[in-house]
Amino acid sequence: MGLRIIIFGPPGSGKGTRARLIGRLLKIPVITTGDMLRDEVSRGTEIGLKAKEYMDRGELVPDELVIGLVEERLRRPDCSGGFILDGFPRNLNQAEALDRILGEMGVKLDLVLNVVVDPEIVVERLSLRRWCPKCGAIYNLKYDPPKVDEICDECGARLIQRSDDREEVVRRRLRVYEEQTRPILQLYLERGLVREMRGDIPIEEIPREVEEVLGPYLKETGVKAPKSGI
Ligand code: ADP
Ligand code: ZN
Repeated sequence: MGLRIIIFGPPGSGKGTRARLIGRLLKIPVITTGDMLRDEVSRGTEIGLKAKEYMDRGELVPDELVIGLVEERLRRPDCSGGFILDGFPRNLNQAEALDRILGEMGVKLDLVLNVVVDPEIVVERLSLRRWCPKCGAIYNLKYDPPKVDEICDECGARLIQRSDDREEVVRRRLRVYEEQTRPILQLYLERGLVREMRGDIPIEEIPREVEEVLGPYLKETGVKAPKSGI
């Protein structure tokens, strides 16, 4: 059976990059609530219209909007073989909702990957971040640039800077993380589910780190770790 994973960490820790690698490696869907919400915003749905003002301010979108989206996504058949959650849960109420949803589905979390990073480097990183609005790929102009300027390597779409990657919004997002999100790690520590990843290693070393941390779990799932690259 596949793994059920949460990737946890502050904005700009590189959790999105890691989530995509792990999703590809384990062939499990990556559920990124930030991308799901941005998609609602760009399609101008009712949820998107409500979510936008919170996102622009760097605050959490109200739970009743996010939990519904995640619940619907988790109940789709492609999640029956495992999944990786990126950006959810982000407060205690969401963590409790996740326990309820998984309980109803009769499954359990296997792993919480905590990406540890110094907040100082986060602000610089996010100002250099570019994002593909079509496929969600993430780049960094200095540390991980696309092959062709401003163009997504994976799908050819034009990259953009997220409006909430401006410095004052980044600082607000970091505060929200410290106040509301970081405390729920305690819950998962008590259950013995947490493994740490270092958010400050160079991009090229991330695949090896992922393989190291997931190695013991890969055996259980019967997935073979590739020799090089992911
Ligand atoms: P980051 O992790 O870099 O802050 P995300 O793309 O995960 O960026 O989130 C962007 C914004 O989307 C958040 O600042 C918040 O407004 C909203 N958001 C994403 N996930 C959630 C969630 N689980 N609960 C509430 N708001 C969320
Ligand atoms: Zn793309």
